[in-house]
Amino acid sequence: LIALYDTDPEVYSGVRAEDRRQEENLELIASENMASRAVRQAQSSRMTNKYAEGYPGKRWYNGCECVDEIERLAIDRAREIFGGEHVNVQPHSGSAANMAAYFSVLEPGDTMLAMSLAEGGHLTHGHPMNFSGRFFNIVPYGVDEKTEQIDYDRLAELASEHKPKMIVAGASAYSRLIDFKRLRAIADDVGAYLTVDMAHIAGLVAAGCHPNPVPYAEFVTTTTHKTLRGPRGGMVLCREAFAKEVDRQVFPGIQGGPLMHTIAAKAVCFHEALQPEFKTYQQQVVRNAQELAAALQEQGIRIVSGGTDNHLMLADLTSVEISGKDAANALDKASITVNKNSIPFDGKSPFVTSGIRLGTPAVTTRGMGPEQMREIAGLIADLLQNASDRKTIAHVREKVLHMTSQYPLI
Ligand code: PLP
Repeated sequence: LIALYDTDPEVYSGVRAEDRRQEENLELIASENMASRAVRQAQSSRMTNKYAEGYPGKRWYNGCECVDEIERLAIDRAREIFGGEHVNVQPHSGSAANMAAYFSVLEPGDTMLAMSLAEGGHLTHGHPMNFSGRFFNIVPYGVDEKTEQIDYDRLAELASEHKPKMIVAGASAYSRLIDFKRLRAIADDVGAYLTVDMAHIAGLVAAGCHPNPVPYAEFVTTTTHKTLRGPRGGMVLCREAFAKEVDRQVFPGIQGGPLMHTIAAKAVCFHEALQPEFKTYQQQVVRNAQELAAALQEQGIRIVSGGTDNHLMLADLTSVEISGKDAANALDKASITVNKNSIPFDGKSPFVTSGIRLGTPAVTTRGMGPEQMREIAGLIADLLQNASDRKTIAHVREKVLHMTSQYPLI
């Protein structure tokens, strides 16, 4: 980073400090991962210089022959991974991808059935401050109080009562497989469109570790930076019948020029996702999550729904008598990064919470396995039981630094 250092030492030192933080910390935020060097090289390429409003072969500006090829490559690879009739790789984010899917068939005021935010859904699934909650009439569905898994019977009742124009599935904090076939049947019963937001699980889907929603949904949206391990960005896959409308909603509806450097990095990410090692990696992500959940349970920490089928889990800290907020802050002091998270039927506010969310994509990318998951569970339990004890924090931090030094960043 010599040019950056010479031009702007302040930004250089910030970037280097972040490098060090990522190197030293145990990254357990479930929505984060560590993109490869190749992905990062594509993203920092000169493709950032190019304006390319429009789509391959139909651009508003000249000089798009190279970016056209890259965008076609990204589209073809995405289709090879997930199937699907039409792909738009231009959304700048998962939020933009959701906006494009919704706007392509909904009008303001239409009813949408989506997973309650308090029980695992995302902001773009109807938070009142978000465009989704402001534009549409949101009916939330959630999990069963006993099993803490999606209550499909109740969902079907809500669908037949409210006759939504769209059902949105997918979540940010749900650790179980999602039954897309069942959701399709419910949507068909009431004549609703089905959008699956697979942002969290896209990498697992790509590797066959989670059922693929594409055969069941009119629209599938995703981010490319979570389990999929690409650059920050979004994507929409849809049926051919909606292709034109989705493309129109992304550009010129929501965005202007696409981020061609990011699309190049998405293409690299998709290439990586097509390699056999990617499957092994995703299988290990799930195994590690299951090992971490089991080890935390052995330490007396309850895991919501009793375990996990994917890359994440919600830990209920009620038995340890610490809030999610205090736990996340205490863990941070020992270089373990997690986020506070509401658990289903949480009595505490979303700013405090009774739980934390933990995920294994980033630590698995570093090469950690079941043995390290057990060690991490022990460190977390130790710290949460003595969260204000400086000696414990220092001791745990030392162990974390030792562990991360054995698994250098890629
Ligand atoms: N959808 C889900 C399920 C998510 O978890 C997220 C991000 O956390 C998004 C959409 C939004 O992605 P972005 O932050 O890229 O807008």
